[in-house]
Amino acid sequence: MFRKAPLLLVALMSLPLISQAHDGHGFFHGSELAHYLSSPGHAVPLVLVVAASVALILYRKRSREERDV
Ligand SMILES: [Zn+2]
Repeated sequence: MFRKAPLLLVALMSLPLISQAHDGHGFFHGSELAHYLSSPGHAVPLVLVVAASVALILYRKRSREERDV
């Protein structure tokens, strides 16, 4: 299962980027990085993906450490 995790992670991380069909919401223009960081519609999924990635990395690291003991 965890062998597919990096692929899933990349797919999840690209979701905010592929939703380019927008203008007229949030702050800044849709092509600016500040737009993705300041608009809740983009920032919240980004934060969730980053948090899930960190949790997955920590879980895998902890699992390896417990296996090596
Ligand atoms: Zn947007």
